Amino acid sequence: GSKSMRGGRPQGDALRRFGDAKKRMGDIFVDLEGYVAELVDSFVQLSADYDFVETSQVQEAQHNRNSITVIQTMLKRDHMKVVFFGRTSNGKSTVINAMLHSRVLPAGMGHTTSCFLQVEASPDDETFIMTENTKDRISIEKLNALAHASDHDNKAKGSASMGEDSLVRIFWPKNDSKLLQNDVVLLDSPGVDVSPEFDSWIDKHCLDADVFVLVCNAEATLTQAEKSFFNRVSSKLSKPNIFILNNRWDASAAEPEEMEQVREQHMTQFRRFLVQDLQVCTGEEAKDRIFFVSAREVLNSRAKKIQQSPSTMLAEGHLLRAQDFHNFEQQFETCISKSAIRTKFEGHIRRGREIMLNLQKIVESVHADALREKETRSLLHRSKLSELRQSQSSFLQFETKSRENADRLRAEVHVKVSADFHD
Ligand code: GDP
Repeated sequence: GSKSMRGGRPQGDALRRFGDAKKRMGDIFVDLEGYVAELVDSFVQLSADYDFVETSQVQEAQHNRNSITVIQTMLKRDHMKVVFFGRTSNGKSTVINAMLHSRVLPAGMGHTTSCFLQVEASPDDETFIMTENTKDRISIEKLNALAHASDHDNKAKGSASMGEDSLVRIFWPKNDSKLLQNDVVLLDSPGVDVSPEFDSWIDKHCLDADVFVLVCNAEATLTQAEKSFFNRVSSKLSKPNIFILNNRWDASAAEPEEMEQVREQHMTQFRRFLVQDLQVCTGEEAKDRIFFVSAREVLNSRAKKIQQSPSTMLAEGHLLRAQDFHNFEQQFETCISKSAIRTKFEGHIRRGREIMLNLQKIVESVHADALREKETRSLLHRSKLSELRQSQSSFLQFETKSRENADRLRAEVHVKVSADFHD
């Protein structure tokens, strides 16, 4: 029932949950930062007047406050990330464009991407690109030249593999794209047939990926390069989320009598790959991970609204393929937002909790020291008082005694004097 509304939620809410969670987390960390700032201030004041707050404790509280600021910065940068893999010309760029509803990436006609291309939301609705090395905005017109430049340069240097893991970032206005509006970043990779440097690819671009999409050519079987890439991925990441798109499914419409059989073959092959080889999902889950689509048809129908491209003859069965692409997008959205919330935010929550426990310990220790000091002072006070009282009472005793003595003396003198007088 992936098509229907779940629990009354309108479709498309899955992606927004990431943003909602991010906002709520942000609010909580703003609160925490406020408390900790107050705490640090009062520690600073107390430490000036009393011995029971040590400088090291003030420093530690300050350090914890800085950690909260670091988490806040990371939280602002957090996004959902999907990476696309597959052989050159299987249609990776076309799938990304279809999902974005516009022709963002150069695709087709012998174009091969020789570096990683990452599409993300523009901060100010300007379209521009940026390379890894500079912070300068580069005109989007230079994209083709740039994506090939690294290839060309490297060939000139005699090294074909270097630079294939380099990254060009494309900043695109988010108005028309639900994905970009909701902090999704899409990464196109060079074809897995281009480079065997999978480990550096994975280390550099995939460790923070929430979802992987393998774009296959439905007319061919899975290649060794595609298999070994995902074997590396699943050995480095625990249970990666992998979707498989059998793209160019429109091409098989020409032979409808074989279509069902081919579909079954692909299904069996890919289910075995996900469930048995990679062990990333169960047989039941696998059917929500494997789709038969035509990215070109979807892109044409979606981009047409914007760019009046000549309508092409739609092959038999295009509605089913369009529906399957839509099903893929729904499963993808639920999966990426769940995964990103779990992996990205749980880390922050754990750190936040550690920081609060740490601060609690410091506060408790300061509190205990303060109580001890109060006690010592009041003990001191009490013993002084009793000393005082003692001295007071001895003084009184002394006074009484001396008064008695004086009286006796006076009496004696009196007796003596009167005796003398009478003598
Ligand atoms: P990439 O190298 O994997 O990024 O592949 P591209 O997206 O550049 O696509 C290569 C060629 O295949 C382009 O000419 C696309 O128009 C074409 N193509 C992509 N998807 C489909 C599809 O679903 N059906 C058909 N028939 N052609 C497609």
